[in-house]
Amino acid sequence: MNNQTDVCPVCGKYTFCEDFDICPFCGWEDDGICEEGGANTLSLSDYKKRYEKYLKLIDNYTWEKHGYPEI
Ligand SMILES: [Zn+2]
Repeated sequence: MNNQTDVCPVCGKYTFCEDFDICPFCGWEDDGICEEGGANTLSLSDYKKRYEKYLKLIDNYTWEKHGYPEI
């Protein structure tokens, strides 16, 4: 665990306070790698695309409540 605050690189709406924290707004996991092959199943750019195209359009979307939409 580190003391730096990391704003979610995907949606910018969430600040991670510990490593491997998962953003509730887009599901991005802060693994410190930001690329495919880390804790996340998609690359950062794919997360961004999905957030812009789908997640942003869902009212009050949270990853825990809605999960991921089929793409
Ligand atoms: Zn996020």
